[in-house]
Amino acid sequence: MHELPATAPHHTTTMERGSFALARCSCGWSGPARRSRDRARTDATDHERAPSGGDVPA
Ligand SMILES: [Zn+2]
Repeated sequence: MHELPATAPHHTTTMERGSFALARCSCGWSGPARRSRDRARTDATDHERAPSGGDVPA
């Protein structure tokens, strides 16, 4: 278990799971499984830019 300060930057990575790719963040967030690694990276970037508003529908 890692303890992160509240001000920790969102450090995202992408990981592959079978034929899917998904984004993960150091805050514990993880994105949906994508068929494309590009998509997963987009999810990661989106989360870094808007960590607390990512789940709000447009
Ligand atoms: Zn995060």
